[in-house]
Amino acid sequence: MIIIDGSEGEGGGQVVRNACALSLVTGTPVRIENVRAKRSKPGLMRQHVTAIEAACVIGNASCEGLLVGSSALSFRPGKVVPGDYSFAVGTAGSTGLVLQTVLMPLLLADKPSRLVLEGGTHNMQAPPFDFIAKSFLPVINRMGPTVSARLVRHGFYPRGGGRIEVDITPAPLRPIHCVGRGAAISVGAAALVAGLPFAIAEREIGKVRKELNWSEREAYVRELPADQGPGNVLLLEAAFEHVTEIVSGFGQLGVTAEQVAKRAIGRMRGYLESDAFAGPYLADQLLLPFALAGGGSFTTVKPSQHSLTAADVIARFLDQRPAFEQQPGGTHLMTLR
Ligand code: AMP
Repeated sequence: MIIIDGSEGEGGGQVVRNACALSLVTGTPVRIENVRAKRSKPGLMRQHVTAIEAACVIGNASCEGLLVGSSALSFRPGKVVPGDYSFAVGTAGSTGLVLQTVLMPLLLADKPSRLVLEGGTHNMQAPPFDFIAKSFLPVINRMGPTVSARLVRHGFYPRGGGRIEVDITPAPLRPIHCVGRGAAISVGAAALVAGLPFAIAEREIGKVRKELNWSEREAYVRELPADQGPGNVLLLEAAFEHVTEIVSGFGQLGVTAEQVAKRAIGRMRGYLESDAFAGPYLADQLLLPFALAGGGSFTTVKPSQHSLTAADVIARFLDQRPAFEQQPGGTHLMTLR
């Protein structure tokens, strides 16, 4: 059994999700101690419990210590069985993070699967649906499998109630090299509001148009049905021939619409000024599929603590260690050692 100290490195939920996914794929049991020790509320939260429960269901696994607040768990994998599954995060916990836990085992299975995931679709500190659909899955699809995702209903913190559906047609993951972005195709910004004043979205978009010089056609406001709220998200998109980056900003009590927009604009500028393929979030999420493919490479911005920790967890299960090397132009090249 592999034993992981969840307080090392980034010390968050991603350690747990990656460890369960790797355990299912390799058939190796894992024990995680000091779960999420570096978070303000350590231990498993509802959304982590749902993600691990989902891993238990698809992989006939058993798990000791699977309770909200638990700081240690032992996960024993069984056989992954593809099929139709439905999982609901009882709170507004992120559906994207549940998907992160079960996607790799299901896309390496021998038959297609269909997932219905209910909970939050646009959460802070998690991949928003748009990022999954436009940024992450296109890279996965280039590696062999076919995965498509639909957003049926938005779900925001704290109410949740969102729904996404994901179809997975498995295929072996093949190594790919993602060094350049290719030609710039388009940019776009959408400010979404549900059950909150329309002016919030208008102010966010006004700032984007002014600061980034994006046109009215490129940057627009969208009002969702009030019963999908309250919620507000600003999504900035830059599409290139080989990759699309999605940066998000979330409306929060005590943070002005202009501040939400300013932070997202700053992060989009950072990405546009570099010529890296992957932004910081895409980079940490691509490490698992690339390691399972047994090769390939991508360029990214400076590796985040999430990426470095994911690399450590991967190296515990596989004969592969993702490594980052700074390139002369300032980007970092990820390869497997
Ligand atoms: P953790 O903080 O350990 O629960 O992990 C959070 C996960 O969500 C990581 O895989 C991040 O890459 C991902 N993530 C967080 N924020 C975003 C964002 N704004 N866009 C895309 N992915 C995100």
